[in-house]
Amino acid sequence: MRMKTSLQPGSPRRSVVCYSNVVLVLAAVHVQSPSLCGAAPAETEVKVVLAPAPAPTNPLYVGNRAPLLPSPFMQLPIGSITPKGWVRHQLELETQGMTGHLQEISPWCKFAGNAWADPEGKGNNGWEELPYWLKGYGDLGYVLGDEEIIKSARKWIDAVLASQEADGWFGPRGLKTGLKGTPDLWPHMVMCNVLQSFYDYSHDERVLPFLTRYFKWMSALPDKDFGAGYWPRIRFGDNIETLYWLYNRTGETWLLDLAKRIHENMQDWTTGVHDWHNVNMSQGFREPGVYYQQAKEARFLQAAENNYETIMGLYGQFPGGGFAGDENCRPGHTDPRQGFETCGIVEYMHSFEMLLKISGNPLWADRCEDIALNSFPAALTPDEKGLHYLTCANQVQLDKNNKSPAIQNGGTMFSYSPYEVYRCCQHNVSHGWPYYAEELWLATPDLGLCASLYAASEVSAKVGEGAQVKIAEETDYPFGDTVTLKLSAAQPVKFPLYLRIPRWCADASASINGQSVPFATKPLSYVVLEREWKDGDTVSLRLPMQVSVKTWEKNHDAVSVNYGPLTFSLKIGERWQRYGGTANWPEFEVFPTTPWNYGLVLDEQKPASSFKVAKVGNGPLPEQPFTPATAPIELQAEAKRIPAWTQDSQGLVGKLQASPVKSDQPTETVTLIPMGAARLRITAFPVIGQGNDAKVWKAEN
Ligand SMILES: [Zn+2]
Repeated sequence: MRMKTSLQPGSPRRSVVCYSNVVLVLAAVHVQSPSLCGAAPAETEVKVVLAPAPAPTNPLYVGNRAPLLPSPFMQLPIGSITPKGWVRHQLELETQGMTGHLQEISPWCKFAGNAWADPEGKGNNGWEELPYWLKGYGDLGYVLGDEEIIKSARKWIDAVLASQEADGWFGPRGLKTGLKGTPDLWPHMVMCNVLQSFYDYSHDERVLPFLTRYFKWMSALPDKDFGAGYWPRIRFGDNIETLYWLYNRTGETWLLDLAKRIHENMQDWTTGVHDWHNVNMSQGFREPGVYYQQAKEARFLQAAENNYETIMGLYGQFPGGGFAGDENCRPGHTDPRQGFETCGIVEYMHSFEMLLKISGNPLWADRCEDIALNSFPAALTPDEKGLHYLTCANQVQLDKNNKSPAIQNGGTMFSYSPYEVYRCCQHNVSHGWPYYAEELWLATPDLGLCASLYAASEVSAKVGEGAQVKIAEETDYPFGDTVTLKLSAAQPVKFPLYLRIPRWCADASASINGQSVPFATKPLSYVVLEREWKDGDTVSLRLPMQVSVKTWEKNHDAVSVNYGPLTFSLKIGERWQRYGGTANWPEFEVFPTTPWNYGLVLDEQKPASSFKVAKVGNGPLPEQPFTPATAPIELQAEAKRIPAWTQDSQGLVGKLQASPVKSDQPTETVTLIPMGAARLRITAFPVIGQGNDAKVWKAEN
């Protein structure tokens, strides 16, 4: 079986679901509350939609203001969502780990002498590192309600806010002439994100005038400055997003004029991908989608989709949601052993979260889950006290030694470290989980709420005519298929509740207070339940997970295995060996202790039937499910070793060769674990063949 997805090579290009939505099924059903409870019958309207219907922006929250397109989804104020379960634990680990302690570890985060902390912008380390870290560090405090972090972030933010010149420039003065006399505007783009979150959390009255003065200064720049400098020219879409954020809060229309000038003079992302640096692509590809809110022509949103499909079609032909960009994408380097930078992972997540809210299209939520659940956890050590630069779908050894030129960058790229060897990722990784936690729930234009990225949580938000409700979400997702939502409300209140149906789910079901709600499952849609909700109402959603097998034609017909949103990797024994750092902040290499060179033996007719779901956790979910020892789900499969498939002289896993592959080795039963739990892994597997078409694997070393 070959799963059809939009990434399938040669498949027709998927057109974007624009913000002009189709109601697929409309069924008004009467759901009788169980009579034992004595509750009155309640009418529930059930709809299946591809995106929220066009409507003015929800006035309960700050969304797009005219003439920008109305917002299909809006972020809830920071602090509205209390993450629980495994997501909360990732954030707690982040607090105890590298991000929470980076001021002790990174020279770029030392307050004394830092150009970002000086009232006159004098000093050192005034580039992207400090804003990269602060961007996630502040949100980590806000989303956890961690007063110590909030206070510590505030010290930096106060210093930045106190550094503004009369003309509007702020922060490091060196950047003002950083590009041969003209300004280097890239690090400020990141600092704007820091201030946006700080304002959304605190409503501090300094922020809006401060950013307004900065953009006033920027609006006096000549057009050519928006096309200057490698990083700013490509990443200027970040500033366009900030300009819309500010416009929505102040209504000053000249901000939109500035956004238009930036769009017209920066790197053109509307005509395809013209730069192949992995982080540039991960954040730059979305720019036409962001500008679509102002341009209001579907071709802009389509351009972001086209960029994504170009990148993934050429370089993302393996599981995990990332692509082969071990600094830059390079023709001929498309094997799953190529790496994806941790900066790219978190920027991709941020881009997908943004495009989901702009388009309403649930495909972006699926893409976000794909990379967040399958690639991101393994980019970090299980205790989040270290990370590596490159995460690969096939990666069997994480040593510290050079892998260039097979991997583009020379030097240490694979082993785990909290230090500046991975300087950009070391700081930028901070916003991955906090931003994810802020997107679990979204506000909808019809005054309702959407359960978007499923995870245990509690949301407190305004709905309907402004009534405050709370919804407690209990789930082990993605390690369990049931999501239970329990509502608390002082008074009955009518509003629509959107439940996302992922692309892999063909047979969802839901009930309200134990009574089934009929609807026809449509993958990549929302089921909308609208009724007068009462205190104690409970919605149960089931998203049954199945094993599926995907064939990667562009990577020698290798296969990968999914179970619901999770991709699975071969479980490989790990030997962790410390090679540097301190007792508290160690650096680790990880070596395999068990064989990894397996091809899968599959049932040709029904490949998915070749896998047995061998373990599904029954007890409480482990706090950190992303380790081999605690992985809540395991699959078993039949496999044979391929002796000629070896590591090369640099320790890198050999490249895939054409499947099916001959093997005279005995059949063994192997265990697969979630990819995010496998720090050593084979995820794109060769297939063992028995027939005449089976090929001999050529020894390369
Ligand atoms: Zn990086």
